Amino acid sequence: MEQKQVEKPAHSGQSAQSGQSESVIGLEVHVQLDAQSKLFCRCSTDYRNNAPNHNVCVTCTSHPGAKPWGVNESAIKNVVKIALALGCKLKVGEPIFIQRKHYFYPDLASGYQRTSKPFATGGELLGVGITEVHLEEDPGNYELKKGLVDFNRSGIPLIEIVTDPDMTTPSQAREFLEEISAILDYLNAVSSEPGSMRVDANFSIRGHPRAEVKNINSFKGVYTALTFEHSRHLNMIKNNLPLFLETRHFDEAKGSTITLRRKETVDDYRYFPDPDVPPIVLTKEFIDAVRKELPELPREKRERFVKSYKILPEEAFAICLEKLLADAFEKVGKKIKPQLAAGFFRGVLRKQLNYRTLSFRDSQLTPDVLVELLSLVEGNQVTEKVGEQLLIAVLEKKASSPKKFAQEHGLIGVADKSELEPIVDKVIAVNPKPVKDFLAGEGKALHFLAGIVMKQTHGKADPAQVQAMLKKKIK
Ligand SMILES: [Zn+2]
Repeated sequence: MEQKQVEKPAHSGQSAQSGQSESVIGLEVHVQLDAQSKLFCRCSTDYRNNAPNHNVCVTCTSHPGAKPWGVNESAIKNVVKIALALGCKLKVGEPIFIQRKHYFYPDLASGYQRTSKPFATGGELLGVGITEVHLEEDPGNYELKKGLVDFNRSGIPLIEIVTDPDMTTPSQAREFLEEISAILDYLNAVSSEPGSMRVDANFSIRGHPRAEVKNINSFKGVYTALTFEHSRHLNMIKNNLPLFLETRHFDEAKGSTITLRRKETVDDYRYFPDPDVPPIVLTKEFIDAVRKELPELPREKRERFVKSYKILPEEAFAICLEKLLADAFEKVGKKIKPQLAAGFFRGVLRKQLNYRTLSFRDSQLTPDVLVELLSLVEGNQVTEKVGEQLLIAVLEKKASSPKKFAQEHGLIGVADKSELEPIVDKVIAVNPKPVKDFLAGEGKALHFLAGIVMKQTHGKADPAQVQAMLKKKIK
């Protein structure tokens, strides 16, 4: 879909210093829908686990004369679900045509991609307008260097969500993507396989031609590509070099973009309604039925968590980014003080998951294990620091029961004053240099000494108490 953004055909000679250097960012988000079979045939969508060109038939490889089957109904339902969750207005009772969008790459044997007219328009998310959502088929996989094509992916149902060019910073784009991905996760409407989301990011400096960076497959990638484009555009303008309406490729390893081609226009695609596929008509009854199935969405869940569990909005935000994580919090928060659980979920748990690039789903953690772990912290049987060690042990499959692991490794217990004192005395005695540095006003030296004490207690001491004791004794 073409972004409705006012373009100037060529460089206008404006300088970046003229004060008119506001960034204009719009996104096109493509996500594979949760479906058992492809959009216009009944081949399996499980394209990753099969040999190349295994999940194919005459339809998805466009043999001469092969006709499409009826449009996959679960795909239609999922698009409607997503459109409703984004607050879009659906087209009711009017024909939504499937169009042929012509292009000539080997990944679609037909020479065109089937793509629907918009199902819905005019939604909003985090203050960013949703221009439209529509349904389309995924092309196959084309390995340019080897000249190989695999049609397993060809025909997988995709939703394309197009935003208005309302964003002005790369961070805003990343936040928008995190939020939309949370919504899609709650709706259970898209594939949960990695790599099922691809983003085209449109960037321009207001009043100048726009570049479209194609097929970025991570949020971090979108952020990096947009940051790169921002500097590139400003540099070009500053040096009076021409900018073009163009399509660019993101090189993830280098964190940069390179030009692919001048951007196609709507005319190049020669859209026309596919005569082989009858138009889709959404009835009010169908839409109402789908609306009734909508779950509680992230925004509503956050508000409820803040209100009923008395946790901080930023804690609720982090916890509700993944539905299973939010569900787990709710189970844990019924048995453990919710504020303690929320702090742990937002801090330690998300840190350890992010570090391993794991979602909560993939971590295989259960609410029961987290309750067992946090009971130890809540009952002052272990320190928070040890709590983190126990979580790491579970994540790394070294422990299935945090309590048993803590017992076996002597981690139970919080060191009291009488246990700490001899350790602190010894650490001060054998580290004269950092002690001297601290007395000379170097705050870092105290952290260093506290670190040694914590290590010697195997994390069983309260860090604040250790620091206080060190300070008192040194002075
Ligand atoms: Zn097929």
